[in-house]
Amino acid sequence: MHEEVVDVLIIGAGPAGAVAAGLLRKQGRSVLVIEKEQFPRFSIGESLLPQSMTYLEEAGFLRDVVEAGFQYKNGACFARGERTTSFDFRDKFSAGWGTTYQVQRAQFDDVLARAAARCGAEVRYRHQVVAFQAVPPGAWVAVAPLEGHAYRVKAGFVLDASGFGRVLSRLLDLETPSGFPLRTAYFTHVEDRITTPGFDRNKILITTHPDHVDVWFWTIPFSNGRASLGVVARSEFFEAREGSALERLQSILSEAPHLAASLKDARWDTPVRSLAGYAANVKALWGEGFALLGNAGEFLDPVFSSGVTIALKSASLAAAVLARRFAGEPVNWQSEYADPLRAGVNTFRAFVESWYGGGFQDIIFHPSPSPDIRRMIAAILAGYAWDRGNPYVADPHRLGILEQVCAP
Ligand SMILES: Cc1cc2nc3c(=O)[nH]c(=O)nc-3n(C[C@H](O)[C@H](O)[C@H](O)COP(=O)(O)OP(=O)(O)OC[C@H]3O[C@@H](n4cnc5c(N)ncnc54)[C@H](O)[C@@H]3O)c2cc1C
Repeated sequence: MHEEVVDVLIIGAGPAGAVAAGLLRKQGRSVLVIEKEQFPRFSIGESLLPQSMTYLEEAGFLRDVVEAGFQYKNGACFARGERTTSFDFRDKFSAGWGTTYQVQRAQFDDVLARAAARCGAEVRYRHQVVAFQAVPPGAWVAVAPLEGHAYRVKAGFVLDASGFGRVLSRLLDLETPSGFPLRTAYFTHVEDRITTPGFDRNKILITTHPDHVDVWFWTIPFSNGRASLGVVARSEFFEAREGSALERLQSILSEAPHLAASLKDARWDTPVRSLAGYAANVKALWGEGFALLGNAGEFLDPVFSSGVTIALKSASLAAAVLARRFAGEPVNWQSEYADPLRAGVNTFRAFVESWYGGGFQDIIFHPSPSPDIRRMIAAILAGYAWDRGNPYVADPHRLGILEQVCAP
């Protein structure tokens, strides 16, 4: 069998893999990215958070993203019944980027993967990783192209950025339940034709279902007059409905009158997709010869659009640990990678749990909010979930106290 040698092999060319590749190329490492699909390809996760810009900049990809012409984004708007409330990410507690983009992921991921290739990473499309064996200090990986013969790669280290493919957690039996109930999302792209006064294309709109506190819709406008539209609910909520995916999505939408009215002229020209049981977790985020990045490790929930930000943060942390490792220094993946990554993930987790319990909604729709607390919440909604200067990051359980104060 044909054999190759590389410093770092990355599984998956999504955001985590591409940014990790860019960062490692900056360190002068040889990088091989093995990607199962041919890009551009559809992916979900279209609303970025400003914190993610830090990592795009760090990788040297900022210009590529800016020049791609994506929809500018400066905040999030929430709607519940007659009420709406907006967070402007430029007015937030933490320092750093206050704006970002809403992106069609087919194009965004292609832009990032091309940027990684421009930096010298080799990206091989339509190849997939099928086996892994740790051989200290690195690992052997078996790769199967969709056409042609399988081959082996000896890597100094392997980063698994395979997202929902979850390659190493499956091969090494690392999967563990997420702790969240089984939820499903139905989504599509439409030509939205929204003319509702006050509708802000620079913000994601999150609309709660009038009768179900744990059912919500996203509206993510793009720069070309189109929008991503989706609904998230427990899986049984969809199963109780008849009809095609489009009919189910439209029937749930009709129960949210303001959102339905704003989309009354929309052209439904794209098939509706669904994704079920996406929440996932692992027993360990690293092991001998490998680390898990982004969704290949843990995925919480889409409600706060945190997925790509967490994926890029994981790439940044892992690249920093690898820089020290390749320099011959002792490294501790638990204290330098897994613990710091999970600290921010746990901030988001507290917010996600509070959202589905309804408490977070009572907080943001409170009639007389504290401006200081709103700025702290805005910072976390903007992705600054690792800024321990923010009291709601330092102690995410503080949110529970705020819920009690804001309870109707
Ligand atoms: C319904 C829903 C809505 C979401 N909305 C948002 C949002 O608005 N904002 C946000 O930030 N996040 C959102 N997310 C999360 C977002 O989709 C992910 O967090 C993000 O894509 C993770 O990036 P990644 O690089 O880790 O993995 P991915 O983007 O999944 O990339 C993984 C890559 O690995 C490749 N791969 C898989 N298996 C193999 C293999 N065996 N060999 C080689 N390659 C392989 C795949 O083809 C893919 O290209 C949402 C998620 C869901 C489920």
